[in-house]
Amino acid sequence: MSLNEKIKDLLKRLGSSKEENAMQMPADVQKLIEMVENTQEVEFSCEDVYNILDQYTELVYHGDDSAELMPLVEHHIEICPDCREEFEALLRILEAVPA
Ligand SMILES: [Zn+2]
Repeated sequence: MSLNEKIKDLLKRLGSSKEENAMQMPADVQKLIEMVENTQEVEFSCEDVYNILDQYTELVYHGDDSAELMPLVEHHIEICPDCREEFEALLRILEAVPA
C-alpha cells in the first residue's frame, strides 16, 4: 500500500468512527454545541471567575440554580481544571463550617 492510500484509508476510518460516536451520544454532542453557542459572545477568564467564585460557590452550597444564575462561571468551571479545583476547595470549606 502506498503512503497516499494509507492516509486515505486512515482518514476514512477516522471519519466513520466520528460518525459512530455522534450517533452513540447525540445528547452529549447537542449539549456541547449548545455550550459553544451560548458562550461564543462572552467568556469568563480565570480572573473573572475567581472574583465571583465565592458567590457562585454559595449558590451551589445553598442548592440554588447556579447553572441558570451564573452560566458563564458554570461553563468555565467545566472546561478549566484550575478553577474547578478552586471551586471544589471553596465548597469543601463551606460544607465544613457549621451554618
Ligand atoms: Zn479558569
